[in-house]
Amino acid sequence: MKFGTLFAYWTQEWHGDYVMYARKVKQLGFDILELSAGDLLLMSDAQIAELRAVAKDLELSVSSNIGPPKDKNVASADPAIREEGIRFLTQIMRAMDKLDSRILAGVLYTCWPYEFIDLDKPAVWARGVESIKKLGKTAQDLGIDLCLEVVNRFETLVLNTAAEGVAFCRDVDLPCAKLLLDTFHMNIEEDNIAEAIRLSGNYLGHLHVGEGNRKLPGQGSLPWEEIGVALREIGYDKGVVMEPFVKMGGRVGEDIKVWRDLSGGADAEEMDTQITASLVYLKCAFTGV
Ligand code: MN
Repeated sequence: MKFGTLFAYWTQEWHGDYVMYARKVKQLGFDILELSAGDLLLMSDAQIAELRAVAKDLELSVSSNIGPPKDKNVASADPAIREEGIRFLTQIMRAMDKLDSRILAGVLYTCWPYEFIDLDKPAVWARGVESIKKLGKTAQDLGIDLCLEVVNRFETLVLNTAAEGVAFCRDVDLPCAKLLLDTFHMNIEEDNIAEAIRLSGNYLGHLHVGEGNRKLPGQGSLPWEEIGVALREIGYDKGVVMEPFVKMGGRVGEDIKVWRDLSGGADAEEMDTQITASLVYLKCAFTGV
């Protein structure tokens, strides 16, 4: 297993100086930096090349995270919006290829945040499958895994459980179509988090970790040891990426609904201390050593 974090732990906006975050997360002991995939379209080829070189030098992997906006929803009832969504995610994959980022993670099969206007689940599902199949051709050519995130009922009506995720991947039926499970969402929807991981088996392509209130792993009540046993049982050797959201404010605070300080009033130094302690705890719980 390789351990990483989303950069947004340190900022309240979905944008960042990724060269700086690459150095920071490596120094704190991580092997993966997760960034906002949409930002790759705002970066020049030279900026992408610089980040690639820095990450390579640090022996750091980069995963790319996206919640496509509603006007780029590949499961929209409007064919023009679906097409725009496919074009958008294809451009992102081409930029990821330049960066050598091989994991595209998120609610790729529709939009995020979901608006809950189109409530015909079978129809949204079918259009999502069709679009992911199309995107899968490019993904396969580029060696990118499409890690479809299973999220809770307040954020999508399509994939709420690992079982639904596996069924969706089977419908897509391409080796690059994988699942992204997230312990924060699983805590709301799954009967048993460890069982859901076992059920996902080889479909699991990426894992997000956070407590039930999105604090750092080890600061809440999720069963990390049990989750670690399940990951080892399925032979999971891919990314384990923290997605902690503990500070109020900005677009991140609004989208994630952070309405109180969950950091204990931590200053910059204390934020680094807390995430380092969480990494040490999580590595121990997941690798069993
Ligand atoms: Mn997540």
